[in-house]
Amino acid sequence: MVSGQHPFAVVLGCIDSRVAPELVFDQGLGDLLTVRSAGEVLDEAVLGSVAYGVLELDIPLVVVLGHQSCGAVSAAVHAEQTGERLPAHIQYIADRIKPAIDHAQEGAARIDATVSAQVRRVRSQLASEPDLAPRIGAGRLAIVGARYELTSQLVHQVD
Ligand SMILES: [Zn+2]
Repeated sequence: MVSGQHPFAVVLGCIDSRVAPELVFDQGLGDLLTVRSAGEVLDEAVLGSVAYGVLELDIPLVVVLGHQSCGAVSAAVHAEQTGERLPAHIQYIADRIKPAIDHAQEGAARIDATVSAQVRRVRSQLASEPDLAPRIGAGRLAIVGARYELTSQLVHQVD
């Protein structure tokens, strides 16, 4: 393992302490390249980290992993509803989740629907990255969305 790493998937997940990707997917050291940001929000460092896994390590699978009861999504929904400003760097996160907010739902259902919408949005943003899109077209890369449910401790794919 000292000579190199050969993880088979990139997992882009939330920072939530209950959703550690290695534990969720029952994987060991060296199996997953994990990138985590609150609400799976993309910025240049996150994009660069995902791109490193795909382009430099030639990993063929990226999983965008959202989860039930996401505090970042909840904060973004709450901030939009109340108009209250969050601390600066947390507002940055909320601003990047905001476009995914599902206004067709109310209350807890809005937060839950936005969790899935955020996964879809991040997945499509990654899929349209100029560095990644050609690999998808060539069948060398798949980018999938998924959700981890705290209540069932199960992961299911987000279409
Ligand atoms: Zn979260």
